[in-house]
Amino acid sequence: MDTFGLKIIASDKVFYEGRCRKLIIPAPDGEKGILPNHENMVIAIAVGTAKVQLAGEDEWRDLAVGTGFAEIVNNRVTLLVDTAERPEDIDVRRAQEQQERAQEQMRQKQSIQEYYHTQASLARAMTRLRVAQDKKWNI
Ligand code: ATP
Repeated sequence: MDTFGLKIIASDKVFYEGRCRKLIIPAPDGEKGILPNHENMVIAIAVGTAKVQLAGEDEWRDLAVGTGFAEIVNNRVTLLVDTAERPEDIDVRRAQEQQERAQEQMRQKQSIQEYYHTQASLARAMTRLRVAQDKKWNI
C-alpha cells in the first residue's frame, strides 16, 4: 500500500519522523483526512486528537496536538504544532490541574485575549485527558 513521509515537529523537538499510510488531523472546521499522494496544501491544525496509521500497521495511534499547521508537499507531510503528546507522554494529574485551573479562570472576568488563551488551555487539557486513555505507541 502507498505511504507518505510524515514529520511531526513540536516546539521543543522533532516528535516523529517516518512513513505513514493515513493521517487524520483536527482542523478548525472539522477533521481532515490525508492519504498518500494528497495534493500540495497547507492546513491549519486546531487543538485536538490527531490519528495516525503508520506504514505496515492497521491500528490507529492517537496523539494530542496543540495548534499549528500541516504542510503537504510532494507526498511529504510536516505537522508543525506547539505541543504534541502520545498517550504515554501525558501526565494525567497535570492535565487535571490544567483543566481545573482553566475552568476556574473561565469563571473569572477576563479580557478577550485572556479568554481565548484560557479556552485553548482548557481544550489542550481535555484532549490530554481523552488521549491518555488510548493505546500507548511504544515506539
Ligand atoms: P497550559 O496548557 O495550561 O498552558 P502548560 O503551559 O503547562 O499548561 P503547554 O503550554 O500546553 O502547558 O505545554 C508546555 C509543554 O509541556 C509542552 O511540551 C507539552 O507537550 C508539555 N505538557 C503540558 N501539559 C502536559 C501534560 N499534562 N502531560 C505531559 N506533557 C505536558
